[in-house]
Amino acid sequence: MEASYGLFIDGRWAAPPKAKRFETRNPATREPVGSFVSGTAEDAVRAVASAKKAFPGWRDTPAPKRGEILLTASRIMRERKEELGRLVTTEMGKVIGEGLGDVQESIDFIEYMSGEGRRLFGETVPSELRSKFCMTVRQPKGVVVCITPWNFPTAIPNWKIAAALISGNTVVLKPASNTARCGAEVVKVYEAAGVPPGVLNFVTGAGSIVGNALVSDPNVRAVSFTGGVETGREVYQLGAEGLKMVHLELGGKNPVILMDDADLPLALEGVLFGAFGTSGQRCTATSRLIVHEKVYATFLEMLVERLEQFTVGDPLNPKTGMGPVASADQERKILEYIAIGKKEAKLRCGGKKLTGGEYDRGYFLEPTIFETKHGTRISKEEIFGPVLSVIRVGTYEEAVRVANDVDYGLSSAIYTRDVNRAFRAIHDLEAGITYINAPTIGAEVQLPFGGVKNTGNGGREAGSVAIDEFTEIKTVFVDFSSKLQKAQIDTESSR
Ligand code: NAD
Repeated sequence: MEASYGLFIDGRWAAPPKAKRFETRNPATREPVGSFVSGTAEDAVRAVASAKKAFPGWRDTPAPKRGEILLTASRIMRERKEELGRLVTTEMGKVIGEGLGDVQESIDFIEYMSGEGRRLFGETVPSELRSKFCMTVRQPKGVVVCITPWNFPTAIPNWKIAAALISGNTVVLKPASNTARCGAEVVKVYEAAGVPPGVLNFVTGAGSIVGNALVSDPNVRAVSFTGGVETGREVYQLGAEGLKMVHLELGGKNPVILMDDADLPLALEGVLFGAFGTSGQRCTATSRLIVHEKVYATFLEMLVERLEQFTVGDPLNPKTGMGPVASADQERKILEYIAIGKKEAKLRCGGKKLTGGEYDRGYFLEPTIFETKHGTRISKEEIFGPVLSVIRVGTYEEAVRVANDVDYGLSSAIYTRDVNRAFRAIHDLEAGITYINAPTIGAEVQLPFGGVKNTGNGGREAGSVAIDEFTEIKTVFVDFSSKLQKAQIDTESSR
C-alpha cells in the first residue's frame, strides 16, 4: 500500500506547503510504494540548520549514552526485520532473502557501532620530554551529509548514519529517490529509538537540487557519498570549494579469477551468486570472470547449464533466483550495454528483456553471459546489471594483468587450491577487498569496506575504521613539570 511521507526536520515530519511530490514504484509490478516531497534547496538549508542547532547537545551527550540509543535502534530494526525486508524487496526488487539480508546488515552494523560508544579510542604516545603526557582524543566533525544509492536501501544509509551519530555528529540523510521509503523507515527507527530532534534529518528530492544544496552548504563539515563515479566527481568538486571532507564510495568492475586447479562446483555457486545476486546491481557484483584456458570450456558449459534452470520472477517468492532490475532507467542502461556486447563479443546466453505474463508488469531481464576478449567496453565499464563478461587467459600472470587493467578497484576474488598462489593474489590484485575461494560479494560489518582507483578516494566504511571518516583527531599535550619545556630544544637536558 502506498504511504505518504514529509521531510523530517527538527524532529518533525512535515511537507512544506504546496510541495511538489514524486512516487516510488515496485519494479516488479510498477505499483506505487510511497509518495515523497520533491525537496528544494531551501528545504536542504533548513535541514542543515536543524542539524547545526542540535549539534552541541548531541556532541556533549556521553558517547556510551549515544551508544544506548543506537542499541535501541538496532533492536527496533530487528523487531521490524520481516516488514522492512519485504519493503526493500518491494521498493527495490532484490529477492526476499537478500531484502532480509539488507536489513540484517543494518541491524548488525548499528549494534556494532553502539559498542563503539564505549571505545572511540584515541592514543597515548610518549613525549620526548620529562613530566609531559601526550595523547589524542576523537571529536565529532559537526554536521554531516549522507547521500546514498538505491541498491542497499537500508544498509548503506545505516552504515553512514550509525557511524556518524556514535561519533557525535548530527546528520542530514538524502536517500536515492527510487528507494526513498526505505530511507524514511530507517529514519523512523532512529526516531523511535529516542534520537533527539534535529540530530537526524531527512530530505528527499533530486540529487542535482537537494544533494547539491546540501553539499554546498557552508555549515556542513563532511559529506559521505555512495553512488556512481560521475556523480561522485561532481560532489567531490563541490565539497572541495568549501574544503570539506568528502568520502566517496563509487563503482566497481569486479573480477573472479578461476584457475585450472579450482574447485569448479564451488566456484559455480560463487559465480552465480556474485554475478546475478541483486540482479547484478551490487557495487561488488562479479562482472568479470577470468578463466584459465584449461578449464574454460568445462566451466562455461556448467555455468550456462545452471543458468538455463535459473528462475527470474516475483522477488517476494523465496524460490525465485533473480528479481527485476531496479527501475526503467536501469533496464534501459543495461539493455544498451547488452546491445553493445552483441556487437563486440559473443553472446553465450540470455541477452533479452523478459516478456509475457508477470514480466510485462516489471523490469525483468535474462541473466546474460558474454564471451569476450579483454578490452571491450562490456569487459571494462560498470554495467550494474545481470551481465557477466567471461575472459579466457593462459596463465596466472595474464589473469592478474587483465583483472587489474580497469579503472576500478573495489572487490576481487580467486578460486585456486594453491596456497602460495592465493597469497600472491592477495598481494597482486589492485582492489580494496580480495576473496579467496569465495565470490566478490559478502561483506561483513566488522571489516572495512572500500576500494582503490576510481572506486573511491581512500576512505573506508564499516569496521572500526568507519569512525575515522566522522571524527577529528585532537592532539593533546599535558606538561606537569611546572616549567617551560621546549620540544626539540630542551630534549638533552631532560634525559
Ligand atoms: P547515483 O550516483 O546516480 O546517485 C547516488 C546518490 O547521489 C543519489 O541519492 C542521488 O540522488 C544523489 N545525487 C545525484 N546527483 C547529485 C548531485 N549533483 N549532488 C549530490 N547528490 C547527487 O548512483 P545510483 O544509481 O543511486 O547507484 C549506483 C552506483 O552506486 C553504482 O555506480 C554503484 O557501483 C555505486 N555503489 C557503490 C558502492 C560502494 O560502496 N562502493 C555501494 C553501492 C553502490
